[in-house]
Amino acid sequence: MGTITENLQKIKQNLPDHVKLVAVSKTKPNEDIVQAYNAGQRVFGENKVQELTTKYEELPKDIEWHFIGHLQSNKVKYIAPFVSLIHAVDSLRLLKTINKEAIKNERVIDCLLQFHIAEEESKFGLDWKKVEDILTSEDYKSLSNVRITGVMGMATFTDDELKVSDEFKRLHRFFSSLKSEYFEGDESFKELSMGMSNDYLLAVARGSTMVRIGSTIFGERNKH
Ligand SMILES: *Cc1c(COP(=O)(O)O)cnc(C)c1O
Repeated sequence: MGTITENLQKIKQNLPDHVKLVAVSKTKPNEDIVQAYNAGQRVFGENKVQELTTKYEELPKDIEWHFIGHLQSNKVKYIAPFVSLIHAVDSLRLLKTINKEAIKNERVIDCLLQFHIAEEESKFGLDWKKVEDILTSEDYKSLSNVRITGVMGMATFTDDELKVSDEFKRLHRFFSSLKSEYFEGDESFKELSMGMSNDYLLAVARGSTMVRIGSTIFGERNKH
């Protein structure tokens, strides 16, 4: 494992220009984030509300913070003032809460719909039917301050590259179908957030526009 700066450089070399790197800094201290920041990285991802708000307060204000984890409705208010993108929206209820908090903060909050593509039961996410139920509902159509800019998904945690690649392909198909059926002509609907440390090259090959990479940049996390 190299330094954070070296690790970032290596990953960047593997990424086409149109793929955005979200540096997943969860559980890592501010010093690590500052190192990545000094190497030019500006986009960071966190999955705990408390940890994210603390880091937001303590670190440079030009950082673009992404929330990548499962978000509880009652915690949206803490990140609504500053979050750049919420990756894992998995219910209409959550979307409505994000909209309400966005209005209070006089801003529009960008969100991705999380699809369930992995075989594991435990992973959160929507299926095609549930996404259509959301997008065709009157409630959704009345939301003024959220903007859906794409989809997100996590592949099964396995060494089986064919399986992972197939899951990313499915997510890409969901993305394309949504684009043509619900977001045609909407230029802001363009993000396909898929790929982590172990599978980001497969994800990029399947059309990812945004990879979320943690341990390959910052080292292994302590399990907790
Ligand atoms: C932790 C996490 C990542 C990064 O995982 P690594 O394997 O460390 O790259 C990406 N996406 C989500 C949703 C995560 O929770």
